[in-house]
Amino acid sequence: MAYYVERNVKMTWWERLYIPEIIRGMIITSRHFFKNLFGFIPFFLGKKKEREIFTIYYPEETREYPIAYRGRPVLALNDEGRPNCVACGLCEIACPAYCIDIDPGANSGKQNEVERFPVEFTIDYAVCIFCGFCEEACPEEAIFMSNDCDISMLDRKKMKYNMQQLLMPTSELKDRIDFCRKMYGKWNY
Ligand code: SF4
Ligand code: SF4
Repeated sequence: MAYYVERNVKMTWWERLYIPEIIRGMIITSRHFFKNLFGFIPFFLGKKKEREIFTIYYPEETREYPIAYRGRPVLALNDEGRPNCVACGLCEIACPAYCIDIDPGANSGKQNEVERFPVEFTIDYAVCIFCGFCEEACPEEAIFMSNDCDISMLDRKKMKYNMQQLLMPTSELKDRIDFCRKMYGKWNY
C-alpha cells in the first residue's frame, strides 16, 4: 500500500517551540533503543510469548519477503529440464549494469528443436543492482527476480554465476511469475 507524507501540516504553538518536540523525539528513540536492547529478557524468562523487539537474528532467523521483493535474478528451469531462454539478448541489452553475458547456440536444423538457446548465460552479482529490468525485458518468461539475497562471499570472482547456478525450477518461482503476469499485463505491452 502506498504511503503518502503530508507536507502541508500546520504546527501548533507547542510544536513551534521546537525544543519540546526534540525532547519528545529523543524519548521515543530512546524507548525503542532500550526495548531492542533488553526486550528479549521477558521472552526468555517466559513472561511474554513474543519478543518485543524488532531486530531479526539473521541468518538464524529470516523474514518472509513480499512478492514484489527483488532478490537475485534467476533463470526459470521448465518442466522439460531446460531454461525458457531463447538467447534473444533483450535482457543483456536492458541491463544497466552490463552484468549479463549470453553465449547463444544454434540448433542443428532438425524440426521441433528449440530454435535458439543459450550455451552459456552468466550474471555477475557483484555488479548487478537488482533493478529487475532483465525480468521486465524478457519476452519468454525466462528470467525472474527471486527472493534469494544470500549471495555474499569473500571472492568477487565467485559472484559470477554460470547457467547451472542460475537455474531455479519454475515451481519455486510460481508466485513471482503470477505477480509479473499481473504487473506487466497492466502496462499492455
Ligand atoms: S537485475 Fe538489473 S542489473 Fe541485475 S541482471 Fe537484471 S537488469 Fe542487470
Ligand atoms: S530476455 Fe529472456 S529469452 Fe531473451 S536472452 Fe534474456 S532471459 Fe533469455
